[in-house]
Parts: sequence; structure tokens; C-alpha cells
Amino acid sequence: MSGPRGIAILGSTGSIGRSTLAVIALHPERYRVSMLGANSSWQVVVEQALRYAPDSVVLVDPAAAAQARAALANAGSRTRVLEGAQALAEAVTGDDTHMVMAAIVGAAGLLPTLAAVRAGKRVLLANKESLVMAGRLFMEEVRRARTEVIPIDSEHNAIFQCMPAGYLPGAAAPGVTRLILTASGGPFRLTDPARLESVTPDEACAHPKWKMGRKISVDSATLMNKGLEVIEATLLFGMPEADVEVVVHPQSLVHSLVEYVDGSLLAQLGAPDMRTPIAQAMAWPERIGSGVHSLRLSQIGQLEFEPPDDARFPSVGLARAAARAGGTAPAVLNAANEVAVQAFLDRRLNFTGIATVIDKVLQRLDTSPVKALVDVLEADASARRMAAALIQPTPGAFV
Ligand code: NAD
Ligand code: MG
Repeated sequence: MSGPRGIAILGSTGSIGRSTLAVIALHPERYRVSMLGANSSWQVVVEQALRYAPDSVVLVDPAAAAQARAALANAGSRTRVLEGAQALAEAVTGDDTHMVMAAIVGAAGLLPTLAAVRAGKRVLLANKESLVMAGRLFMEEVRRARTEVIPIDSEHNAIFQCMPAGYLPGAAAPGVTRLILTASGGPFRLTDPARLESVTPDEACAHPKWKMGRKISVDSATLMNKGLEVIEATLLFGMPEADVEVVVHPQSLVHSLVEYVDGSLLAQLGAPDMRTPIAQAMAWPERIGSGVHSLRLSQIGQLEFEPPDDARFPSVGLARAAARAGGTAPAVLNAANEVAVQAFLDRRLNFTGIATVIDKVLQRLDTSPVKALVDVLEADASARRMAAALIQPTPGAFV
């Protein structure tokens, strides 16, 4: 190996992006940062660029890019600053980039993540929304480019670790009969269902076990995160939705399990810290330190498991229905969810309204087959328009 391997980070200012930089910082002889990409938080990107000296920085927002350019030039940095969504997709394809951490939140991650796949980079996939949206098309691109997509989502990374030796995502593994995704149950697992209507964004974002961005935190509170993860698992591991079970495990120490035909259940355990899956995916098939403390089971004492409460949290059922419908349905589900979650965060929609909006959009928009990326993008746009129309601009009120 000639020198450290270049890693491009899409979404470097976010929770996953920052954890990725923390792992890279432990291994300067193995890895270097080739590119940092983010939406608009230029001050954070400037700090990161001064510390990690990437070849380029891309900010989607041009005004933020101008600020970053001036600040970096002032500090004598040689990092180039580019702007716009197109530049983001181009910047991950360079020869100095070996792998790409896809950690933009939401549908905005789709095009740059696909660009990384097409360029044959190893993709470390945190941005589950892009896979859910593009579905089989995404996995076909992975096959065509003969590249690797390694899941960062803790559950899918756990499953990947429990798969037979040499397994790569994209097809069913021989001997595997069932996948079991664990869910923490989120902050409202024990909340009186009557109170769910009036919970606030801050309550929803106070996740009991993980510190994450606000969108995925709300998804964890509605359990739509688990719904998206069921779809993600069907695509990565080639299993039908019916063979992907969800079990609530409040301690969040067993990150998921794989069942084999002989009755064996293999599980991966660890402290709830994303640096573990990040380090595993970066180094695979080797292992490197992540900075995560070791888990002492005798101090934990008990691990609990219970079925999810589908009546209280309808999102997993909605996602399963979209997975079965196939075609554009998962893209519609994802887009309606993104619009509804943003409306909830902006206090234009109450918590229980999120699932109601998604359900209505899924019912009203016909599912059509996905032949090309444009079908996905059109379904995404229609679902966004419909969801926005269903949500009233006044706080708390919705159809
Ligand atoms: P975050 O909100 O903390 O960070 C999001 C990042 O995306 C930021 O760097 C932001 O600048 C960038 N971004 C936002 N909109 C953008 C746009 N339009 N164009 C370009 N960049 C944009 O989110 P996060 O918690 O780090 O999650 C990132 C992804 O990882 C999500 O898809 C999430 O589902 C997934 N994920 C996160 C965790 C976790 O522990 N945080 C765990 C599993 C999966
Ligand atoms: Mg997860």
C-alpha cells in the first residue's frame, strides 16, 4: 500500500461525519481526508479543513462556500473550495479518493452517493434514504461498478459482521433464513399514547441511547427509522421483507442478529457508538481501533427484548407495505416522511401527524415501476408536493 488511503466525507459536519473524522484521526498512517462536503455550515468545515488538510471542500450553498474560501485563503490553506450539488458529486470521483463516507441526511445524498458508486469507490453507507429511494437501481449500480457498499447503519453493519466469511452486500447469503433488526424503541416507548400528539421536537430528539442528527432522531421516535431499515435490509441482504423481523431491545447493545438454517442466531454487540461500525467498514476485512470503550457485560446485567407496538407506531407497517409494493413506493414513503419530519421540527405538524401524512401520500400516489433514476426523482418530487399540500402552515393543524 502506497501511503494513506483517501477518504471523502459527504456530510462531514454532521454526527456521522464528525465520528468518521474522529476514527481517521486515530490512524493517520492508514487514512487521509481527500474531500469534505457539507450543506452550509462553513465555520465547522473550515475548522475541519485546517485540521485534516483535504484536497477539496465542497459546500452546496454558494454563500457559505464564499465564506469558507475567504477564511481558508486567509489561514494560508491550500484546500480548494467548490460549491453546489454538482460539485459535490464530482468531487468524490477523483483518483485520490479510495472510499466515500455517504453521510448526508436524506434524499440530497442520492446523487453524490451514486456518483461514488459509479466511480467504483468503496461506499460506506450511512445515508439509508438514498438506498431506500433508488432501491434495486442502486444495488444494480453497485454490481455494475463491481464495487463494495458497506453499511454504516449499526443494525446493518451488525448483520454484515454476522454474515458468512467473504460475504459482500447485494445478494442473499447461503444458509441465512432470517434477519433480526433491533430497535431501541425511541424516547416514547413507554409514553402514554394519548400524549404523543403533543410531544415537542426537543422531546422527540432526546434519544435514550444514541446522539444523532435531528431528522434521524425524529425517525427513531416514530420508528420510521426502523421502517426505512427494514427496506434497507431487503436491498443490502437480498431478503424478502417478511424475513426481516424487528425486535425492541431498549439497552441498544445487541445491534442486530442473523438466523441460520441450523437454528443458530449470531449477534453483534458493542457500546452504542457509531465509531465502531465506521471503523469496521473503513478497515474491512481488517480491524482497527475505533476509540470506543469496551463493553462489560457483567456490569450490564440484563438484556431485554420485546415485540414492537405496531398500534402506537404505525410507521414500520407503512414501510413494510411500501417494500411489498416495490417500484416507486419506497421513494414516495421516504419523501413524504422527510417533508413531514421537517414540518414537525418546524412545529407545523404534530408528532402523530407524521405517519398520517405518509399514509395519505402513499394511498393517493400510484406506485409505478422504476426503470431509470428519473422515475425515482419524479416520484420523490410528487410525494414532496403532495405531503406539503396536506400539511397546513399553522402550528398543530393538519389534514
Ligand atoms: P446530521 O444532521 O448530523 O448531518 C447531516 C449532514 O448532511 C451535515 O453534514 C449536513 O451539512 C449535510 N447535509 C444536509 N443537507 C444537505 C444537502 N442538501 N446537501 C448536502 N449536504 C447536506 O445527520 P447524521 O445524524 O449525521 O445522519 C447522516 C445520515 O446517516 C442520515 O442518512 C442518517 O439516517 C444516517 N445514520 C445516522 C446515524 C447516527 O448515529 N447519526 C446512525 C445511522 C444512520
Ligand atoms: Mg440504525
